[in-house]
Amino acid sequence: INGRDKIRIYNHEDVSIKERRRDIYWVPIIRKALRDNDLFLVFQPVVELNTCDISHYEVLIRMRGDEGQTITPDQFIPVAERMGLIHAIDLWVVENAIDFLAALPSYLSHIALAINLSGSAFQYPDLLQVIRDKLELTWVDAGRLTFEITETAAVDNFERTRDMIHKIRDLGCKFALDDFGAGFCSFNYLKTFPVDYVKIDGQFIRQLDINETDSILVRSMVEIAGKLGKQTIAEFVETPNIALKLKQLGVNLGQGYAFGKPERNLLESHQVSLAILL
Ligand code: C2E
Ligand code: CA
Ligand code: CA
Ligand code: CA
Repeated sequence: INGRDKIRIYNHEDVSIKERRRDIYWVPIIRKALRDNDLFLVFQPVVELNTCDISHYEVLIRMRGDEGQTITPDQFIPVAERMGLIHAIDLWVVENAIDFLAALPSYLSHIALAINLSGSAFQYPDLLQVIRDKLELTWVDAGRLTFEITETAAVDNFERTRDMIHKIRDLGCKFALDDFGAGFCSFNYLKTFPVDYVKIDGQFIRQLDINETDSILVRSMVEIAGKLGKQTIAEFVETPNIALKLKQLGVNLGQGYAFGKPERNLLESHQVSLAILL
């Protein structure tokens, strides 16, 4: 039903054929990008709301297009998930993020990263091996890595996923539950997976300063996370006003355009107007 009295009938077959075509179109492009290293990482700061210190940076993937344009992950990550290419991307990101840390000069050895993993990442036993080997080889401290996991259909084997998370935590890495509140199983995930951070979905944050429902929901999420001994992160913090509101609600960390956009050069990614924000 579309609008008040208009009924639109969708032809589902057409939609799926179209999507299927688009998926097939992307496969060789993604393969080529992996092979030719046309993927790169950008970094966005996550800030302690109380002190304005940078806690860590989230790593976000980008693809270099044919004409030098930047292709964002919403264009190719879901396709990669459907077409069986996501595991290769996950491993690429993990290896490159750790290499990035290893290459930093020693005065930046406090810098920590949060890496997004797809829901299916934990179905492959080699993930643990790759993380462990890479950390050993580079001497990077495991405590500098957090892995962000999202509620997706791909996490169909809860037991195996939880097992894997435990093993990666045993190395010393941390975990965050991404997009919290956005899906149907948020509480189930919170109950099942041992995480250090709860990352409140941006949809509750963007209009926090004007939407009373959002602030009630955020307040409750903060209370729940706090009682479970987890830190809260708010994403999509777009204005100083919202940052202030989050701080008042007791949210621990913030991330968003108010603090800095994702940038290739991590040290450029924060507008150091942070102190005047809060
Ligand atoms: P996400 O993990 O929820 O990442 C947050 C997204 O919000 C990023 O989009 C980021 O650039 C954007 N963002 C940050 N601050 C703001 C803000 O203040 N306002 C608004 N409106 N947006 C903001 P991006 O980089 O396009 O990534 C989209 C999604 O793609 C990510 O959502 C994540 O699910 C996925 N993704 C990104 N990088 C990777 C990766 O390396 N591996 C995997 N598996 N997935 C990735
Ligand atoms: Ca994320
Ligand atoms: Ca998110
Ligand atoms: Ca998201």
